[in-house]
Amino acid sequence: MDIRMATDQKAVDNSAMNELHWLIDMVQTIEVGLVVLDRDYNIQLWNGFMENHSGVTPNSIKGKNLFEQFDYLPAKWLKQKMESVYLLKNRAFISWEQRPFIFQFKNYRPITGRADFMYQNVTLLPLSSLTGEVTHISMIVYDVTDVAINKLQLKSANERLEYLSQIDGLSQLFNRRHWEQCLQKEFDRHTRYGSETSLVMLDIDHFKAINDTYGHQAGDRVIQNVSHTIKKSLRETDCAGRYGGEEFGVVLANTPAVNARFFAERLRKKIEKLEILYEEQLIKVTISIGICDIKPEVNDSDTWLSQADQALYQAKEAGRNCTIAYE
Ligand code: GH3
Ligand code: MG
Ligand code: MG
Repeated sequence: MDIRMATDQKAVDNSAMNELHWLIDMVQTIEVGLVVLDRDYNIQLWNGFMENHSGVTPNSIKGKNLFEQFDYLPAKWLKQKMESVYLLKNRAFISWEQRPFIFQFKNYRPITGRADFMYQNVTLLPLSSLTGEVTHISMIVYDVTDVAINKLQLKSANERLEYLSQIDGLSQLFNRRHWEQCLQKEFDRHTRYGSETSLVMLDIDHFKAINDTYGHQAGDRVIQNVSHTIKKSLRETDCAGRYGGEEFGVVLANTPAVNARFFAERLRKKIEKLEILYEEQLIKVTISIGICDIKPEVNDSDTWLSQADQALYQAKEAGRNCTIAYE
């Protein structure tokens, strides 16, 4: 009887030993980084993944302090995270979006040739002793380079698309739809904060004659040159758009009508001086400008816009190549 029990016990021991052996093998070869730290951040386990990517062997690093070995680690921040794992006995996660990586490993994956380092998600796992006390922490390091690169590429493609959806192809200024949104936004800002805002509408003079004389492509070149001149005259907070064929609108934030007139006159003179070269011919153009600040009785951006348009019409009536403010 005794012999039989002893044999059973031995079988159990053998099986447990086998399992342990397998576990160690798996920990060593798994494609995930595993690090175990004691209470003083000394490294107790450093698996094959960590060795392969850092070039540091488990034997040479065992017992050494994590933060002394890798002085680039954000020690203060990481220790704070780890202390909360000890305190709350709960796991903590560090996402690549929060911090692209914890360990500075090179990225060797051929498909994601764009990243020179490995993006990582890291889990901090509390490890308890038999008495239930948390004595160690395990860092589990996942290589999420593929996911991160895909997401970043998608994000930048979306940003590019959003930008393109706001831009007029010929003039490279905002298109009418987006410009009208800017106009509305500035009008709302005025309503809420009383900020002084002016609107400048401008139209190229006798443009039909340019098309007729030099051709439609020459006309396009003129639109591009005028747009470029407008763009160069803007401040960061100004918003310029192509309102129609050769009519443009500029919203000048924090600008009273007097200053809008300076802006308009400077622009008008610059365009008057432009010499636009098209197939060895020099084309000269002028613009007419209407300006309008937001009058107290104006309740919506459409009225504001139509007042600036009326001023522009008056500038045309007055003989063109001039600036008129709505009164
Ligand atoms: P005004 O001084 O009164 O403004 O005279 P105008 O000849 O410029 O008259 P208007 O502004 O009404 O003319 C606009 C012309 O611009 C009509 C159209 O054929 C032309 N046009 C509109 N869009 C484009 C474009 O994208 N390219 C070219 N080349 N011409 C355009
Ligand atoms: Mg015109
Ligand atoms: Mg026009």
